[in-house]
Amino acid sequence: MVKINENFAKLPGGYLFSEVARRIAAWTAAHPEGRVIRLSIGDVTRPLIPAVVEELSRAAAEMGTAEGFRGYGPEGGYPFLREVIAREDYAALGVDIGPEEIFISDGAKSDCAGIVDLFDGDNRVAVCDPVYPVYVDSNALAGRAGEYRRGPGRWSGLTYMPCTQENGFLPRPPEGRADLIYLCFPNNPTGAAATREELRAWVDYANARGSVILFDGAYQAFITSPDVPRSIFEIPGAEACAIEFRSFSKTAGFTGTRCGYTVIPKALRREGASLNDLWARRQATKCNGVSYLVQRGAAAVYTPEGRAQVRENLAYYQENARVIREGLSAAGRACFGGVDAPYIWLKTPDGLDSWGFFDLLLEEAQVAVTPGAGFGPSGEGYVRLTAFGEAEDTRRAVERVRALL
Ligand code: PLP
Repeated sequence: MVKINENFAKLPGGYLFSEVARRIAAWTAAHPEGRVIRLSIGDVTRPLIPAVVEELSRAAAEMGTAEGFRGYGPEGGYPFLREVIAREDYAALGVDIGPEEIFISDGAKSDCAGIVDLFDGDNRVAVCDPVYPVYVDSNALAGRAGEYRRGPGRWSGLTYMPCTQENGFLPRPPEGRADLIYLCFPNNPTGAAATREELRAWVDYANARGSVILFDGAYQAFITSPDVPRSIFEIPGAEACAIEFRSFSKTAGFTGTRCGYTVIPKALRREGASLNDLWARRQATKCNGVSYLVQRGAAAVYTPEGRAQVRENLAYYQENARVIREGLSAAGRACFGGVDAPYIWLKTPDGLDSWGFFDLLLEEAQVAVTPGAGFGPSGEGYVRLTAFGEAEDTRRAVERVRALL
């Protein structure tokens, strides 16, 4: 009889977001007249930008003609998109990344999860704590995380790098072995961002040890601080030790349309192999590329109209972040993030754990947040609020929380 991958049984399940949804549904069922404002969502609320919608329609019409029809495309993406990304997202920063070093995908999540295919199971994997769960779960499914012990985020085979108020929510390079290092800045969930100097320490560490940094830049568009680099490749030497993941999801409203990309420099080699070649081979084996329409839509993000509309979207969410951050700070609450990221990390009041504070906010203020403990042990004592809601709802939610606290 067939045997299934035993690692599925080790996963703690979709505990966090399903439990959040369950508690909101239970409250709503008991209070049909009430309305919960969700500052828990990681999805965007602004619609697709008009420049993208127009281009999607144009490309759809093109596909309906004999001359314009396209079948299977290149697995790594069409040159028109890879070239514009190389020019606008990297050359514009003074970073030399060629189109053939960029792989288009259906989003950062697939690539963050799929990248484990390139690496041997004996590698020691280091993750931040708290952490975006995809890094941990994809290693667990591949059998690299060891055994799951008590509480969320506690895998015996992973090295956890605590991100706490004491270290400014920025992990320090671990003492022991760390072959694969997942870093995400600006960070989900803490909203922390790493400066040039901080990233330089990581790049030097990885180059000295032959480690590879898996750098998730899904939120780079939210950076406002001048000393925070937008790409890890702004750090000299990163091209020899880092892979970068990026997404169109949170800037141009692509969470449902799906597009992102992964950058693997040609200079990144381990054991004589080019990781760029390995990923090209992996992609050719496991996928047939991203829809032509979607890639045309993503390219429209870089037109003058597209850029202006993205700026508008970002400004909308950044204003929400400011309202949350300043509103809660003015109420005397310790909160972090929200400057270079769409996430605000709020400390729970004394004596309340993450879930206790979640319940209090739901019951007494009808505001839903995400309990920090769900992202890892060091998330205990915090909740995450997101800036992706409607502006009016966000303002109202902050008022309700302030009144309660
Ligand atoms: N990386 C991080 C840190 C995220 O928070 C998210 C989405 O919430 C993603 C990646 C996924 O992005 P995408 O929609 O491109 O798959």
